[in-house]
Amino acid sequence: MDALPQTLADPPIFAPDTFRLTEQERALTAKAREFGKRVLAPRAARWDREASFPVDNYRDMHAEGLLGICIPVDEGGLGAGFRAYCLTAAELGRYCGATALTWNMHVCSTLWTGALTEDLEMDAATRAEHRRRRQVHYGRILRDGAIYSQPFSEGGAAAAGAAAFGTTARRVPGGYLVNGRKIFASLSGHADHYGISRNLVFKDVFVEEDAALMPPGLYFQAATRWPHMFLTLSPTYMGLAQAAYDFCVRYLRGEQPGTPPVKRRMYPTKQIAVAQMRVMLEATKALWFQAITEAGPDPSKDAMLRALAAQHTVMENANAIATLAIRTCGGQAMLKSLPLERIYRDSRCGALMLPWTAELCLDRIGREALYEKGETDG
Ligand SMILES: Cc1cc2nc3c(=O)[nH]c(=O)nc-3n(C[C@H](O)[C@H](O)[C@H](O)COP(=O)(O)OP(=O)(O)OC[C@H]3O[C@@H](n4cnc5c(N)ncnc54)[C@H](O)[C@@H]3O)c2cc1C
Repeated sequence: MDALPQTLADPPIFAPDTFRLTEQERALTAKAREFGKRVLAPRAARWDREASFPVDNYRDMHAEGLLGICIPVDEGGLGAGFRAYCLTAAELGRYCGATALTWNMHVCSTLWTGALTEDLEMDAATRAEHRRRRQVHYGRILRDGAIYSQPFSEGGAAAAGAAAFGTTARRVPGGYLVNGRKIFASLSGHADHYGISRNLVFKDVFVEEDAALMPPGLYFQAATRWPHMFLTLSPTYMGLAQAAYDFCVRYLRGEQPGTPPVKRRMYPTKQIAVAQMRVMLEATKALWFQAITEAGPDPSKDAMLRALAAQHTVMENANAIATLAIRTCGGQAMLKSLPLERIYRDSRCGALMLPWTAELCLDRIGREALYEKGETDG
């Protein structure tokens, strides 16, 4: 039997030895790549065509332990930290952007309440109470495959961090009364636990105290002291950038399954386009890897600007590479039976992710590079 063409072997996005990955990262990324290729990729066109929720994927991810990837090991999960999660998510995003992105929202409910909280300040009693409460949520995820949604957007300036959230949680005996309006959340209609679905209005909704994912004020502390938490929206798009590049190379070599074995690689114009894509991909990978590696509490100004630059670069380059791939491969490559058109649409959404949209990243980088804290021009 002929050996598989190299372009179909899908080497890791981040070669473990070259990027000196930890043992845990090697294992998780290998698992994600194998799972993504075998399980996610063959189903991706169907969810897209039907605009349906990838229910089967979530069932299988539960069986693989992936719903609990960031739940600490001593609480029953796989114990991935921030970088291990990002690298694993990028491998999944390569095969199904929609699944990786929605999974990100779910995972954040465990990463932000898990590993991240170890770096935040809480008195001993609050920490003990937080650990007790989160076990209720972690138990549901590990045991029942429960899916958690991230309900933030309200349609105003709050999700951009430019205003306070309008939704309120007022303390009452035994819990909180929630009032407000949320407009959008990934996983809507399919999550088991979330504040909202599309256009949900809360009116005096009672939420018991024990259901709190974090103690009061801790989310704000995380957002200000551990800002890389918002970089978790980018791994999906790192994977999509790689997928668009991989598709283009396979297609031009006449090795893309589902297309006739016609080679187009001998044309200099195609070679230049692939070179441009490769330059963008390498720059994106290098910057992103550095940003996810140095993520941690209280980042320096340089690290902060780099995180914003990494987010901007991943989100814009994923779409730029997909755009170039379409122009280079041509009309046939846009067939719905092939992944490129879907990769293009998925990649377009990356730049829209509040609070670090591509526009807002530029806005902040420009301002924060020119002004030190507290400086004004009178
Ligand atoms: C694929 C996808 C998944 C999503 N999943 C979730 C989710 O799980 N949970 C959730 O809560 N939301 C989610 N969102 C919603 C998203 O994060 C936005 O909050 C929502 O789309 C904002 O509404 P809008 O699109 O009308 O954008 P607008 O708020 O109108 O923003 C449009 C653009 O204007 C700019 N802008 C916005 N506010 C400001 C400002 N104050 N100053 C300067 N510029 C600004 C930004 O560049 C932004 O991209 C998702 C969005 C997408 C595309």
